[in-house]
Amino acid sequence: MAMHYQGFEVSIYEKVHKFLRLGDSLGLGENALRLLERWGLHDKLIEIGNKSEMMQIRRWHDGKILAQQPLMDMAGYIGHRGDYHEEFLGRVRELGIPINMGCNVVAYDEDEPSLTLSNGEVHKADVIVAADGIKSVARELVLGFEDKPKSSGYACFRAYFKGAYLKEDPLCREFVEKECVNIWIGNDVHLVQNTLRDGDEFNWIITHKDTEDIKESWFQPGDMNEVRKLVSDVDPRIGAAVRKTKECLDWKICYRDPIPSWVSKSHKIALLGDSCHAHLPTSAQGASQATESAAVLALCLKLAGKGNVPLATRVYEKLRFERVRKSQLNGEDIRDRWHNALKNLDDNVEIDPETVKMRNRWLYPFDAEADTLQRWQEVSAQVSKELQAGNISPLFEAAPAIQTSRVH
Ligand SMILES: Cc1cc2nc3c(=O)[nH]c(=O)nc-3n(C[C@H](O)[C@H](O)[C@H](O)COP(=O)(O)OP(=O)(O)OC[C@H]3O[C@@H](n4cnc5c(N)ncnc54)[C@H](O)[C@@H]3O)c2cc1C
Repeated sequence: MAMHYQGFEVSIYEKVHKFLRLGDSLGLGENALRLLERWGLHDKLIEIGNKSEMMQIRRWHDGKILAQQPLMDMAGYIGHRGDYHEEFLGRVRELGIPINMGCNVVAYDEDEPSLTLSNGEVHKADVIVAADGIKSVARELVLGFEDKPKSSGYACFRAYFKGAYLKEDPLCREFVEKECVNIWIGNDVHLVQNTLRDGDEFNWIITHKDTEDIKESWFQPGDMNEVRKLVSDVDPRIGAAVRKTKECLDWKICYRDPIPSWVSKSHKIALLGDSCHAHLPTSAQGASQATESAAVLALCLKLAGKGNVPLATRVYEKLRFERVRKSQLNGEDIRDRWHNALKNLDDNVEIDPETVKMRNRWLYPFDAEADTLQRWQEVSAQVSKELQAGNISPLFEAAPAIQTSRVH
């Protein structure tokens, strides 16, 4: 949508044969909605989102409210990933952008640039945007080495289901009777609960310590016995809802260090979204930052003009890195504050609510396109020099300089 909006012709190659309503809750912040509105999407996305005004941060074992804050300061609009995806896809189809399904990209030629599908077909373009997710095939090409995920030390059990039957239980009824978002925090653990579709659907996610082998998957079944053990001492109200759950997923949260470049040495393949800046779930910004990156890359390609792809992709990564990094770190910060807030504290000690509130508000007023326009001149002048010298500065200081061919 971002590329189309800037006047480019785009083709999409997608591995799966059919999109299903996969995953569960996902946050879309105002920073993303501002851009999506320009691409023709807004009201329908807001309809999808959870309608509660406030969310509560509660003490693990008895549910005492420790802090309350507006949902808009936390994740923005929380909706089902599949429902947002469906709206995005509907708009993409409306704009006439071809989505080629069942097209597994197995290789890239960064100089052409081109991509090769598993059936042997090769497709060329002026620029390739590799938005191929956390297990990106393109990332290794860009990096020039294998980038193995490392354990974050945490995993999530997550469950999503029609919650009507919870209404029969007076203990947990309150969590499905109206739209709500609640978070229980304890020592090295937290549980997020929210309703979707006006309370018809129910989602819980428990983040807990887990240092088992690293397997990233959105589909691995979780062991409900283990979950029941984890919630044995949680607020009985949410405990009842979790214990009634029939099945869940076990999602190891893998972590990746920031990478020194998001662009291939030829400057013609650019990573975008989770392929270069995956977020922890506690950041509540993964999809929103991917949306911002899309807007910035598309606008840079337009500002650079035809035949100037290297300038565009290199300005894009430089414009994006710092903000994305701060947003990623926000997710680590809140997880650590939640997991430590109550350590060694007696129940009668009051904690300062500010210490457990999410601090995402600063991310939302940002207009990624306006920022690009404002900084283009300065950053493109620096990048032009680097391209001429064949020496691109890495995205952060500790990384080695990136030698590339000179571009005149
Ligand atoms: C199945 C699934 C469930 C998820 N559930 C949640 C959730 O519940 N909550 C949440 O916050 N986030 C969830 N996410 C992550 C969330 O979608 C992303 O963080 C965010 O939307 C950024 O999107 P992205 O486009 O960078 O990556 P993704 O959303 O991961 O999209 C990447 C796309 O690239 C495709 N792809 C990958 N490799 C290839 C290849 N070689 N060739 C062609 N196509 C390829 C994938 O099929 C996928 O459609 C989920 C992701 C997936 C894939």
